Amino acid sequence: MAYPSETFGENVFSLSRLAETLPKPVFARFIQQVQGRTTLDKDTADAVAHAVKVWAMNHGATHFTHWFQPQTGTTAEKHDSFLTLRNVTTNGVEEVRPLDIFSGSQLLQSEPDASSFPNGGMRSTFEARGYTIWDTTSPMFLRNAAHGTQVLYIPSVFISYNGEALDEKTTLLRSSEAISNATVRLLHLLGETHVKRAYTTLGTEQEFFLVDRQLYNLRPDLRMCGRAIFGAPPPKHQQLEDHYFGQMPSRVLAAISEAELELAKLGVPIKTRHNEVAPNQFEVAPIFEEASVAVDHNLLVMETLHQVAHRHKLKVLFHEKPFNGVNGSGKHCNWSISTADGENLLEPTAHPEENMRFVLVLVATLDAVHRHGGLLRAAIASAGNEHRLGANEAPPSIVSAFLGDQLTEVLNSIEEGRSIRVEPPKRKGIKVGGTVLDLQVRTLPTIARDLTDRNRTSAFAFTGNKFEFRAVGSKQSPSFPMVLLNAAVAQSLNELTDDLTKQMGSRTVPSKDDIRAVLKIWIKRSKPIRFEGNGYSQDWIAEAEARGLPHIRTCPEAFAQLLDPSHSKALVTQGVLTQEELHSRYHILMEKYCKDMLIEANTMHAIATQGILPAVFAYRKELAESLVAQKAIGVDAAAAPEKSVLDKSSELTVAFQKEVGVLAKTIEEITSAEPLEGAKIAAAKLFTLLRSLGDKANDIENLVGDKYWPYPKFPELLF
Ligand code: ADP
Ligand code: MG
Repeated sequence: MAYPSETFGENVFSLSRLAETLPKPVFARFIQQVQGRTTLDKDTADAVAHAVKVWAMNHGATHFTHWFQPQTGTTAEKHDSFLTLRNVTTNGVEEVRPLDIFSGSQLLQSEPDASSFPNGGMRSTFEARGYTIWDTTSPMFLRNAAHGTQVLYIPSVFISYNGEALDEKTTLLRSSEAISNATVRLLHLLGETHVKRAYTTLGTEQEFFLVDRQLYNLRPDLRMCGRAIFGAPPPKHQQLEDHYFGQMPSRVLAAISEAELELAKLGVPIKTRHNEVAPNQFEVAPIFEEASVAVDHNLLVMETLHQVAHRHKLKVLFHEKPFNGVNGSGKHCNWSISTADGENLLEPTAHPEENMRFVLVLVATLDAVHRHGGLLRAAIASAGNEHRLGANEAPPSIVSAFLGDQLTEVLNSIEEGRSIRVEPPKRKGIKVGGTVLDLQVRTLPTIARDLTDRNRTSAFAFTGNKFEFRAVGSKQSPSFPMVLLNAAVAQSLNELTDDLTKQMGSRTVPSKDDIRAVLKIWIKRSKPIRFEGNGYSQDWIAEAEARGLPHIRTCPEAFAQLLDPSHSKALVTQGVLTQEELHSRYHILMEKYCKDMLIEANTMHAIATQGILPAVFAYRKELAESLVAQKAIGVDAAAAPEKSVLDKSSELTVAFQKEVGVLAKTIEEITSAEPLEGAKIAAAKLFTLLRSLGDKANDIENLVGDKYWPYPKFPELLF
């Protein structure tokens, strides 16, 4: 057995591999061009292409592919073989010979048909040209194809003929650039002129469910929608709280560890794995990385888990709410800003009250979340996440930020122009002194205490030395939430730098008083976004609304935030999305939402008419026949026990059938409407209708005999 540390990155064409194979000056030119983000010249590109081809073919690669992220939430790839036929003349005889060719231009760019990917009406089909271009910041890697052959994956961006972003990656790279520029500006003003670049870090905690594949195959709703649209909750679910951090079932552990080994070879550093709260729910989390690489790696985690689970006869469900009645799944995005040297700018250090660089970055982030909470709400909106947000075990749909006692006190003290008060909470038997916990049991060591306790109910929580954006959905790419967050924070950092510059007047570096004076205003202004209480409580909704925080309930309302000038201006001025790209994204998101809702509606309709109604009819027939038989031998059928069940089934089935009729009409109404209008009708009508139909189906499931029920039930799926 090989340890992950030994195989780590085995299938990655890293910079050090490239350095080993390229002549020194060529490698230096490559690095210069990559860092300067200029286009690679043809000779350098050819040299890199040759080097990677030799390495890839030594590992069995026969094909290469530009691997990109269209706005579908998944990745796309089209494989091209290295195989080429060339005319070769030997001894005066010309013949066709097979050769393996991979040129610099093939490495740099390829041209998939853009009209088959979502483009939000930005392009008409007759001008379908789109390009994928190698993203030199993310390394190439190999993945298995059939019979031990490999495919060389080239992480790429996907743009239109006119350079508009058609994908999730181009905008992420632009937003990283915006953060870098804004951070460097601020740091230079503070005198840290050695910092040349900064980037955002991202660590994605990925939650998911694993279910038996054979049972999964028997549930059309899981197959079509990724979630159970009906299903009576099992008598035992998560109320015993015995699943979280419990021992993993052996088949699950086998699948997850196999996935981890494969991911290690791809250079994806998975660090933790554990059982989550709901039965059959699990989580894996990597060591954080630069955001654009972390996004690539999260997508690889999802794809690898999917493939490996298949080999173990399991099915992985990434949906945000696969089963009503138990916890849903999220993708907590841990986010911070780091300098190129790896210094975390959200590291509070021992005395955050004196660490002005930290406080400035913290306050800029709070300001961004305050001004653009609506934008962050748009970033996480999807038909799936709608079932999770605002339910009482997930972040609420109101975005607020949690800081913890100590940092709250730091900001309060600056706002009130006083020094900080340190009041260590005292509890008998336990000495809690600032950052140390002395448990007063001699055999237990004194431990370091985090600056903040946890608040699981906050959508955006400070957790020690980073923010955790907890409202992100488990199934979505983390890219868009990071794009919008980065753009918002870049704007605040820039404006904070502007304000500081004004405040300091003729001084070359701002004094402590300059910084405190500016911070005072900024802290006051963004205060409404800070909330330390229980985000699940009803009181909070009223308070948040009183504070003027947006409470956005549906997807169409959330997506409309993208077009709101108060938000779109920030995105456009930071150079992250153009007005046209924003419109296109709005259209794509609305259409996707409408389609997702329609798939659920049509699946529910099919299940109702082809599965549930026939099942209850068969059961009713048996009950009725039994009553006839009893009557024939002189039993009082009206008093027979079957009679009350038959009556009850009539009542439930009639109500269900009636609502199935309403469903059919609603589907009709949505399909005949324009897509944007359809999305709004779906939000207004379908969401509650599907819930209600699910509840009615569950009542029937609870009544009908087991042997008549054509679908696996929750107890089988979850235990
Ligand atoms: P917690 O248990 O508080 O969520 P963990 O240490 O388990 O904290 O971290 C969760 C995720 O946060 C991991 O993926 C981790 O790599 C990531 N993380 C830690 N520090 C940072 C940082 N500075 N920037 C981004 N992500 C981070
Ligand atoms: Mg966490």
